[in-house]
Amino acid sequence: MTMIRCVSPVDGEVYAERPAIPLEMARQAVAHARLAQKAWARRPLDERVKLVLAGVARLNEMVDEVVPELAWQMGRPVRYGGEFKGFNERSNYVASIAADALKPLVVEESDRFERRIAREPHGVVFVIAPWNYPYMTAINTVAPALMAGNTVILKHASQTILVGERMVRAFIEAGVPADVFQNLFLDHDTTAALIAAKSFDFINFTGSVEGGRSIERAAAGTFTGLGLELGGKDPGYVMEDADLDAAVDTLMDGATYNSGQCCCGIERIYVHESLYDAFVEKSVAWVSNYKLGNPLDPETTLGPMANKRFAATVRNQVADAISKGARALIDPKLFPQDDGGAYLAPQVLVDVDHSMEFMREETFGPAVGIMKVKSDAEAIELMNDSRYGLTASLWTKDAERAARIGRDLETGTVFMNRADYLDPALCWTGVKETGRGGSLSVLGFHNLTRPKSYHLKKVTA
Ligand code: NAP
Repeated sequence: MTMIRCVSPVDGEVYAERPAIPLEMARQAVAHARLAQKAWARRPLDERVKLVLAGVARLNEMVDEVVPELAWQMGRPVRYGGEFKGFNERSNYVASIAADALKPLVVEESDRFERRIAREPHGVVFVIAPWNYPYMTAINTVAPALMAGNTVILKHASQTILVGERMVRAFIEAGVPADVFQNLFLDHDTTAALIAAKSFDFINFTGSVEGGRSIERAAAGTFTGLGLELGGKDPGYVMEDADLDAAVDTLMDGATYNSGQCCCGIERIYVHESLYDAFVEKSVAWVSNYKLGNPLDPETTLGPMANKRFAATVRNQVADAISKGARALIDPKLFPQDDGGAYLAPQVLVDVDHSMEFMREETFGPAVGIMKVKSDAEAIELMNDSRYGLTASLWTKDAERAARIGRDLETGTVFMNRADYLDPALCWTGVKETGRGGSLSVLGFHNLTRPKSYHLKKVTA
C-alpha cells in the first residue's frame, strides 16, 4: 500500500501519513458523488449556500487546531493565525453573488416565447489543491462549485495532507451530506487513471506548470473541462512618481510573506533609475528585520520553506545568479538559523538580468531580484519577458499611466499600488503557462456551470 506522507519542515520528521486509496475504492467514491449530485442540485440555492457557509463557520471553530497544524505541515508561523481572513472573505463573497451569478439570462419572456440561457452544474467537480495556501486555494473552487449544485471530490497536496480531511470533516459536521463533498487520498497514478476514465465533469487544478501538464495529458481526449491555475514569476514596476515607502513595504511583503511561497508573490522588481538606490537600500533594511525560526514560536516572522527540496531550488537559483554576476545584499550572518535545509534566509539580489534562471523561472521562495530601468517601454518589455503571466504590480500616482501600461502587460491581473492579493470580486486567471480558465467572481461561477438554452414556443401557430 502506498503511503502519502507529509514530512514536516519544522523538524524533518514525518508529521502525518495516510494510505493512498486503491483505484477501485476511488471509483466507488466518484460513483457516490455522481449519485448524490442530482438531489444536491435540486435543493434550493439558498439552502446550499447556507450549508457551505455553515461548513466554513465550523472550520473557523477549529482555529486552535488548524493554526499549529498548518505550521507543522508547511511551516507558516503561528503568529499569522492561519488563512481564515481570506478563506472567510472569499466564501462570504461568493455566497453574496451566487444568486445573481447563477440566474438565467432571459432573452424573451412573452405570450409567444420563453427564451433563456440557464446555468447548469457540471456534475462532479474534481479539485486538486496545492500546499502553499492550502485552505484558500481549495475554497476558491470548493465553495462556488458546491453552491452551484456540483458535488466535489478534493485531492489535497501530500505536504498538507490533513487539510482536505479537516475541511471535509468541518463541512460534514455542519450538515453537508457526506457524498456531496469528499476528500480522497490519491496518488498520482490513481488521479490520472480517474481523469482518463472521464470520471469528472470538470477539473480545477492549482499547482505547478509540470503538474498542470500531467493533468492535461491525463484528460486528453475525454473533453473534460479544465481550469489550470499554475505558476508565476510576478513583476513589480516602481515608477519615478511612486510612493517609495509604500512600494518597498508592499513589494517586499509580497516577495517574502509565507517564505515567498505565493503564486502571485513578487519575484522580480524593476525600479526607475531615479529611485533605484533608495529602493534597494530600504528593501534590504525591510527584509533584514525578519526573524527566521521555528514557526511554532510566536516571535518567528519567517518560517522554514515547506520542504527542503523547495529551499534547494531557491539556493540553486541564487547561487547560479551569483556565479553569473549577481550581488547578494542580505548578510547570511543576520540569519544564523539558516540550516542549509528548509530554514532559508531571505535574499535580495541586484546586478541581475534575464539571462539568469533566477529572473526567468519561478523561485517560489523568499528571494527577489531588483533591476534598474529607464522607461516604461523598457519595464514593459522586461515584465513581459516571461513564460508566465499571473499578476503585475505597478507603482505610480498616475492611474491613467498604470491603465495604459496594463493594456500592454501579458498578465491575468494588473495591480496599481498593491500586490499579492486575490480579490474575490475579480476573476483570478492567468495567461501563457500560468494556465487558463478563471476562478472566483461571476466568471468563476460560470466556469463551474454550463450554459443550457431553453427555447419554449408557447403557441403552435
Ligand atoms: P504541484 O506539485 O503541482 O502540486 C499541486 C497539486 O497537484 C498537489 O495536490 C499535487 O499532489 C498534485 N499533483 C501534482 N502533480 C500531479 C500529477 N502528476 N498527478 C496528480 N496530481 C498531481 O504544485 P505545488 O508545489 O503543490 O504548488 C506550488 C505551485 O502552485 C507553484 O508553482 C505555484 O505558483 C502554483 N500555484 C498557483 C496558483 C494560482 O492561482 N495560479 C495558486 C497557488 C499555487 P502531491 O502533493 O501529492 O504531489
